[in-house]
Amino acid sequence: MTAVDADVISARLGALRERVSRIGGERVQIIGVTKTHDVELVRAAMEAGITEIGENYAQETVAKLTGLDPRPTVHFIGQLQRNKVRKLTGLVDVWQTVDRVELGAEIAKRDPGTRVMVQVDISGEVAKGGCRPRDTGRLVDDLRGRGLDVVGLMGVAVLAEAAEARPGFRLLRSLVDELGLAECSMGMSGDLDVAVEEGSTMVRVGTGLFGRRER
Ligand SMILES: *Cc1c(COP(=O)(O)O)cnc(C)c1O
Repeated sequence: MTAVDADVISARLGALRERVSRIGGERVQIIGVTKTHDVELVRAAMEAGITEIGENYAQETVAKLTGLDPRPTVHFIGQLQRNKVRKLTGLVDVWQTVDRVELGAEIAKRDPGTRVMVQVDISGEVAKGGCRPRDTGRLVDDLRGRGLDVVGLMGVAVLAEAAEARPGFRLLRSLVDELGLAECSMGMSGDLDVAVEEGSTMVRVGTGLFGRRER
């Protein structure tokens, strides 16, 4: 069963776009995070005008998106194990959570030249993944050396008051600028206003578009 239909998503998307552009993000992409929702929800999201989706779980991504035609641009935004890369190849367009050389090496081997982003730990919470901020430049260089197209950086803020996310967002944005990258993926339903204020170019929105998740 689909939680919400295309009309509902379309209305929420319109409101979200307006909100984001009001804060000053002229070039902010909205990634619809469809994790835990079924493929019908993905179809409804596309019908509503969403062209980019985010998925978190390897198994679910394979089960849900294999054979989907037409399909959206798929961003993998969950923690990723190296042994899952092979079966995700062909389904994922942008690998947003590359946080170590071994993972990058595997992606370069299976999906040569693909688009990747380096996940940086901006919350200080190891469980969220991400490389240390001071290791970011080296990892970016390494991935480029392997022929990958490093389009930007991604971060997940502390999940508390949105205001507490600001220093982390500011840090991520400064690293993006320092490294001369194009994309800065930060901000979720609960903290996207702050993220856009701090220079996000990609917000990843699940709940705000599709409603509460079961898990
Ligand atoms: C689930 C998830 C999101 C979306 O979260 P919402 O709060 O539902 O908008 C964004 N980014 C990552 C990395 C996620 O895991």
